[in-house]
Amino acid sequence: MTRRTAFFFDELSLWHSASQHALILPVGGWVQPPSAAGHAESPETKRRMKNLMDVSGLTRQLHLQSAPAASEEDLLRVHPAHYLERFKALSDAGGGELGDHAPIGPGSYEIAKLSAGLAMAAVDAVLKGEADNAYSLSRPPGHHCLADQAMGFCFLANIPIAIEAAKARHGLGKVAVIDWDVHHGNGTQAIYYNRPDVLTISLHQDGCFPPGYSGTEDRGEDAGLGSNLNIPLLPGSGHAAYLEAMERIVIPALERFEPELIVVACGYDANGVDPLARMLLHSDSFRSMTRMVRETAEHLCQGRLVLVHEGGYAEAYVPFCGLAVMEELSDVRTEVQDPLRDFIDLQQPCEAQRKLQGELIQQMAKGFGLAG
Ligand code: ZN
Repeated sequence: MTRRTAFFFDELSLWHSASQHALILPVGGWVQPPSAAGHAESPETKRRMKNLMDVSGLTRQLHLQSAPAASEEDLLRVHPAHYLERFKALSDAGGGELGDHAPIGPGSYEIAKLSAGLAMAAVDAVLKGEADNAYSLSRPPGHHCLADQAMGFCFLANIPIAIEAAKARHGLGKVAVIDWDVHHGNGTQAIYYNRPDVLTISLHQDGCFPPGYSGTEDRGEDAGLGSNLNIPLLPGSGHAAYLEAMERIVIPALERFEPELIVVACGYDANGVDPLARMLLHSDSFRSMTRMVRETAEHLCQGRLVLVHEGGYAEAYVPFCGLAVMEELSDVRTEVQDPLRDFIDLQQPCEAQRKLQGELIQQMAKGFGLAG
């Protein structure tokens, strides 16, 4: 049965720009100015995903919408006024470095508010029953942003802003956030670290970003103790490791928590050709993970599931992974075949690494009290 899937998108969100960078390196000194691609967090990755959805015919099967920008009131539920003032002032002045790896250009403040607004609208559509599930192509991304510090290309905490708005407007109760962006979801973790009503789970490449961070010992504090789980995976992990971590840790943790809504911080940078990480997922990995959370949402919370776009920097490949996610959400299959699936599949880790990673996942599950 085809599901009603809403897709929130606005071309303006692709107009956010950083100052001149090559990959993530500010130009100058030994860093030659870039030829064309510029900063890694390029709009093309996202635009090409939307374009592939268009040309494959998938967009026509979805409910495509834009949304109003988040209001100051919405932002203030998560971010302090002094941070927002500093962000707006730098954006109005033409841009610059707002935080740690967080370059902005002119107008980035308004565009970031729109990005958060798209995530808010996606949550809204699902909670009101207007859609069975929803995807927000939010840009700039949000999961590294702390309440008062921009970080890792993120300037506003899109997902917490959307959750807090839904709590204020709809009296939403428990929410689970699954972050499968290859980098650690440190912003979401920090914002909800002492909150028992929001379960945060991050699957990430061990030690990648924030640099050196692993996180299995960080389980939340005070009332939030136990509602934060980190699943660091070895560099080079592939399809099997992610699915095993989902099956043994993420899904049982969701079942234990019983959320009213599941939100996925949907980064694609664990794909096998991403320039900013070293993992080996292909489009079917993202398809399978989406299926697992979709089925769990159907079982636990009337299918209420929202995915919010985060990272993913392989311009040519992210669209195929994103299309697979959208196909799985909507139950519409297009004719598109992933041209890199077999190439990445042939590079999956050897048996010895898979065994080691499997043991580590089992240990983590046990540590989290989830070993069945
Ligand atoms: Zn990332």
